[in-house]
Amino acid sequence: MVYRYDVIVVGCGAAGISAAVYLSRAKIKTLVVGKKDESQMNEAGTIENYFGLEKVSYGKKILNVEYKKAKKYGSEFKECKVDNVKKVSDYYEIHCDSNMTYYSRYVIIATGVVIPQTIVKSLNLKLDGKIFLVDRKNATTTEKVYAVGNCCSMNKQLAHAVGDGCNAAIDIIRKELKKDLYVDYSVLEGT
Ligand SMILES: Cc1cc2nc3c(=O)[nH]c(=O)nc-3n(C[C@H](O)[C@H](O)[C@H](O)COP(=O)(O)OP(=O)(O)OC[C@H]3O[C@@H](n4cnc5c(N)ncnc54)[C@H](O)[C@@H]3O)c2cc1C
Repeated sequence: MVYRYDVIVVGCGAAGISAAVYLSRAKIKTLVVGKKDESQMNEAGTIENYFGLEKVSYGKKILNVEYKKAKKYGSEFKECKVDNVKKVSDYYEIHCDSNMTYYSRYVIIATGVVIPQTIVKSLNLKLDGKIFLVDRKNATTTEKVYAVGNCCSMNKQLAHAVGDGCNAAIDIIRKELKKDLYVDYSVLEGT
């Protein structure tokens, strides 16, 4: 059996799950591969500086809320590590330490402070010092490969990671839906 997705997100932390929420709400078939318990959000303890929080909340709790949301909208999750990503004709082939292989047309790298050197070499990704080089849409120098969150930013804050996930996801959605403008707004009935 061949497992094909539109997008595979490598990394199950704040940035990766943020991307998955937007993608799955737009009905883009998305798989997130990674271990949620290894996200820095579990170490973060209490978070006070995140936009919109009325009370102090726990990093782990915030991540769980968004994980459940991404699942509710249709994102799939596999709890394993990605060993390598290779380009095979029009697809990216994602090899996991569980011995499973998945395929996707786009890849979003969201590995936090880890820069996976095997993937860097295999996809010929360019670095900017110790982080991935990306443009304003979070696209790397390799076609249909994005990087989001701590792996492409020296600004190691939750708000930045979540914003990156949104940014990359919306760029992919715009391309897939062939729209210059795409917005994900919830509008109250009757307004
Ligand atoms: C002690 C501490 C306190 C903090 N407090 C705050 C705060 O108060 N406010 C704030 O804004 N920010 C805070 N942060 C920062 C915040 O937690 C991070 O900015 C945020 O988690 C970054 O999100 P990310 O998705 O880039 O990385 P992470 O959330 O760390 O997620 C990275 C994911 O990638 C996975 N991964 C890595 N390699 C692979 C691979 N090869 N295959 C598959 N998966 C892989 C990991 O397992 C993990 O799931 C704190 C961080 C720490 C450590």
